[in-house]
Amino acid sequence: MWTWLPIYLVLMLLVLGWYVQRNRKTQRTHEAELKQAVEAGLVEPPSLHPIVDPVLCIGSSSCVEVCPEGALGIVNGKAVLTNAASCIGHGACRAACPFEAITLVFGTEKRGIDIPDITPEFETNVPGLFIAGELGGMGLIRKAAEQGRQAIEGIRKRGAGAGFDFDVVIVGCGPAGLSAGLSAIHHKLRYKLLEQEDSLGGAVFHYPRNKIAMTAPVKLDIIGTVKFGEVQKEKLLDFWNDVVKKTGLQISFRECLQDISREGDGFVVHTQTGQYRARSVLLAMGRRGSPRKLEVPGEQSPKVVYRLIDAAQYRGQAVLVVGGGDSALEAAIALAEEPGTRVTLSYRSAAFSRVKQKNRTRLEAAQAAGRVEVLLGSVVEQIDTGSVRLAIGEGRKTLDNDAVIVCAGGLMPTPLLQKAGIRFETKYGTA
Ligand SMILES: Cc1cc2nc3c(=O)[nH]c(=O)nc-3n(C[C@H](O)[C@H](O)[C@H](O)COP(=O)(O)OP(=O)(O)OC[C@H]3O[C@@H](n4cnc5c(N)ncnc54)[C@H](O)[C@@H]3O)c2cc1C
Ligand code: SF4
Repeated sequence: MWTWLPIYLVLMLLVLGWYVQRNRKTQRTHEAELKQAVEAGLVEPPSLHPIVDPVLCIGSSSCVEVCPEGALGIVNGKAVLTNAASCIGHGACRAACPFEAITLVFGTEKRGIDIPDITPEFETNVPGLFIAGELGGMGLIRKAAEQGRQAIEGIRKRGAGAGFDFDVVIVGCGPAGLSAGLSAIHHKLRYKLLEQEDSLGGAVFHYPRNKIAMTAPVKLDIIGTVKFGEVQKEKLLDFWNDVVKKTGLQISFRECLQDISREGDGFVVHTQTGQYRARSVLLAMGRRGSPRKLEVPGEQSPKVVYRLIDAAQYRGQAVLVVGGGDSALEAAIALAEEPGTRVTLSYRSAAFSRVKQKNRTRLEAAQAAGRVEVLLGSVVEQIDTGSVRLAIGEGRKTLDNDAVIVCAGGLMPTPLLQKAGIRFETKYGTA
């Protein structure tokens, strides 16, 4: 036996050496990710996210391994949100930590998050106004869909009331609104389902192509329990579109909520095209907000859109992309790859300060190859049928133009909802 001991010792040392090397390499990768995020100014998580107690954390990596979004890393032996912008608040990290070192909180010291005051039945402090899904603070597909269904239960209890066109107006057709719509059909409620975009799915529609979404089983009225587990975004959207066809769910696409006013014991819901009298309103609007507009003459033209759906549709055209975030850069890069497309990227600031390094590098390459013209410090002044006019410093520049894609972020509906009387609490890194 003693003759084998040196061999065992050498083997153990080799395994230990390999383990230490591998850990060092992983930590270097995490440090580099954190550095990149800090340089790009992408250090604020969108909503619910973990904070790690450095005293309790021993750097076990359990949280890093379970995070499906790759948002956590180990830096200096402790778990850290190295990729804060990717955190979507699954909470899988908290459940995985063997030392209970992780707490989930909303907002950060610098950036407060407005969370509405809602009852366990999803009713706000304004009787008859309900909130489900991510707008209420809790994200995730399953939770949003469950809440949509449960909120309709509460709405049903309020009854129909006299003189209203609808029992409920549902605003938003992401997972929460879609599920609520099915429940409204199930309970034979008179409903109107509004969606500002031209497609259903909400945040899921905007996930990167082929993204795998993770979702636990969820009960949808009429359909039953849906068990997806891990599912490609496109498959999930196909499933939902199929559900809409099968159930006859009516969705008013391209209709955006603009105001809610009180009428008797119900509401009048105002959109850009109509007014609906409803006994109850369910807000399932998520947290992406409505696209920020340029507010310039000509913006109402059909050639102006607020997201890039398919770069190929602009092949051979002159396209202006407006914005300075990752979505604007990604749109300009994708368009530049289409044969014959002439792409101009206009941004009002002097530099792209809050973008991923990967996008910056790809844009610089496209610019160097003459495939994208970048106009920093420029502002769109007017949109005409075949052209656009930009102000650049004191000067003016008119470009030939077939399409304008505005990627200037979203405007949260908080002021609209506060005007309707809904109370919010601003959370700065608290549960
Ligand atoms: C990149 C990314 C990856 C994610 N991955 C996962 C995952 O793997 N698993 C998971 O469970 N969750 C994931 N999530 C979170 C999940 O997508 C959201 O929590 C969920 O979509 C919230 O559903 P919702 O219906 O509340 O809101 P949303 O999905 O945001 O839908 C809200 C809808 O309301 C509409 N709307 C907004 N304002 C108005 C208005 N004024 N008038 C009319 N309509 C309006 C919007 O256009 C939108 O369609 C991810 C999120 C992101 C951003
Ligand atoms: S909350 Fe979810 S996405 Fe965020 S770090 Fe934890 S596991 Fe990852």
